[in-house]
This record gives sequence, structure tokens and C-alpha cells, in this order.
Amino acid sequence: MPQVIIKPAKFGRGLFAAEPIPAGTVIGIATGPTINFATACKKNIRECDTLQIGPDRYLDLPDPLRLTNHSCSPNCGLRNLEFITLRDLAPGEEILWDYSTSMDEHYWTMTCLCGSPTCRGVIEDFRLLPPTLQQHYLALGIVLPFIAEQYK
Ligand SMILES: [Zn+2]
Repeated sequence: MPQVIIKPAKFGRGLFAAEPIPAGTVIGIATGPTINFATACKKNIRECDTLQIGPDRYLDLPDPLRLTNHSCSPNCGLRNLEFITLRDLAPGEEILWDYSTSMDEHYWTMTCLCGSPTCRGVIEDFRLLPPTLQQHYLALGIVLPFIAEQYK
């Protein structure tokens, strides 16, 4: 796995490349205890430290992957449970993925201030994304399987 470091980010802490990382590199694998939605909600008011992997299944992510932040123009994505880079990253670049690619819960939304030119303004369920963006993420293989299978 390539070197990554935890540093202060725009909001809280984030994960950053510590060396050049080529596109298509696995930077980490999502693991952790499996918990249900009710338990995920009790962990944190926004239950955003957990990763949804099924209709009522969440992974309670450990550090450092728990600290990865969202962007509407991600440079990383989750292929099954592997965080992979979507393009070459330079040292110092923050590792960012689109939280909506793992969200189908009819519950949580968050105002997005990611600053990307294509920022949607809100982070919400995959089913609410523009269809062209859904197809883009599905073609890249970075939509969690429990969601992707609904679009076959
Ligand atoms: Zn955004």
C-alpha cells in the first residue's frame, strides 16, 4: 500500500498522499465490525464515520480510512471495499471520494462545501444523483455492490 498521512483538512482531518500514487492503486481496504443502522446512528449524530454496505449493514471504519473526506469531484473511489485512486495523485493531495456512491438509506443528507466546480451542494443517496453521474460512477465500478445491483 502507498504511503498516506493524516493531516488537518478543510474540515477536520483528512487523509493525504505522502508520495506520488498512480491511478488505479489500492490505498486501503474498508474493514471493521459490521453494525446495523440504529447502532451507526448512536455512534455519531450524523453516522458519517460508518460506511453503508447493505440496506441495514454498516462497517464501523477504523482510522485512517474513517477520516477520508467527500468530494463531488473525487480522485478516489470504492471498488467493492477497496479504496482505489481514479487518477494520479501528487504528494500532498487529499484523498477524496464521493460519499453518495455508498449511500442508499433514505435518511442522512449533508450540505456539501467541497468547493468543486461540479459541487452538487448536498451529499445524499445515490438514487438522487443525476442519471448521467450515476452511469459515470457505475461504469467506473465505484458504486457499492448493494446499490449497483439495483441498476443492472
Ligand atoms: Zn460538493
